[in-house]
Amino acid sequence: MAATGAGIGALPHSEAHYFNSYNHHGIHEEMLKDEVRTKSYRDAIYNNKHLFKDKVVLDVGCGTSILSMFAVKAGAKHVIGVDMSTIIVKAREIVEANGMSDKITLLQGKMEEVELPFPEVDIIISEWMGYFLLYESMMDTVLWARDKYLRKDGKGLIFPDKATIFMAGIEDGDYKDEKIGFWDNVYGFDYTPLKVTALTEPLVDTVELKAVVTDPSPVITFDLYKVTVEDLAFKMPYHIPIRRTDYVHALVSWFDIEFSACHKPVRFSTGPHSRYTHWKQTVFYLADVLTVQEGEAISGVLSCKPNAKNRRDLDIEIDYKTETDNAGRAAEGHCTYTMA
Ligand code: SAH
Repeated sequence: MAATGAGIGALPHSEAHYFNSYNHHGIHEEMLKDEVRTKSYRDAIYNNKHLFKDKVVLDVGCGTSILSMFAVKAGAKHVIGVDMSTIIVKAREIVEANGMSDKITLLQGKMEEVELPFPEVDIIISEWMGYFLLYESMMDTVLWARDKYLRKDGKGLIFPDKATIFMAGIEDGDYKDEKIGFWDNVYGFDYTPLKVTALTEPLVDTVELKAVVTDPSPVITFDLYKVTVEDLAFKMPYHIPIRRTDYVHALVSWFDIEFSACHKPVRFSTGPHSRYTHWKQTVFYLADVLTVQEGEAISGVLSCKPNAKNRRDLDIEIDYKTETDNAGRAAEGHCTYTMA
């Protein structure tokens, strides 16, 4: 296949690393087997054939071309799939094997560099979400594609178009002891310098619903029709009501996704109350253990921005404070994390 652009080898190291990670079929297998993810896209597309019929569709980061093929089945006139990773070579064979080569054009290259065969598209489909929603910063690329290629008359559609980050507080004493407390005494030695490091790394893992001691609290919603790359560096106040008298060792975060252009909106959640997804949840251990009572709240500010050295990494800061009348249990703190 003729590759557009200079190929992954010519990219800066961190970018090459990112795109190389999508070369192997294993990562695509994990995503395809995530049924919450893949069936939500399939439902959003198949149940809205009236929106896809005869439309030109752009699949940003097409991977194995699954979303492109959904769009063709829903009646799209033509789909352009773009991916920088070499998986697109296989995508081309898959499209051929499914008799869709005349309907799908696959371009290998960076979305920001390839030249599309159409000046405008009617619909953008993309699965760009990373851990903690924003890790990997692929939303930047979708916004770039939106601004350059989505039809300018306001009738263009984006699938999905809404993403909300949530937070809640969890009781996670045993695991915190095992992961963080471990460094206090390693074969009789003080290893606390590594404790500091461990505390600054958010942990991507599944959280059991019974560990959640608060209500879920929405922190920020991105509307993909309006959001700009600058908005992806944000500082948002949050307020998490306590539902159960307990201890809080960490804040857990997840995101919900919505396809609101659908006749009946399709949504899925990656939270602890929902079915497993490969995004799991993201846990931020706090420096303190908060002692909280039903009716109180944890409040503070969540800040997030792309790392200055590697835009795909995230610098996250959490200010927290227990809202309580009990001075003995009042606590506040500030933690910084890097997702790399
Ligand atoms: N759409 C597929 C794959 C999603 S994973 C599916 O739903 O299964 C995201 C894909 O986007 C990866 O294959 C990655 O290589 C590609 N990608 C990310 N940023 C890109 C960019 N700027 N240009 C081209 N491809 C990109």
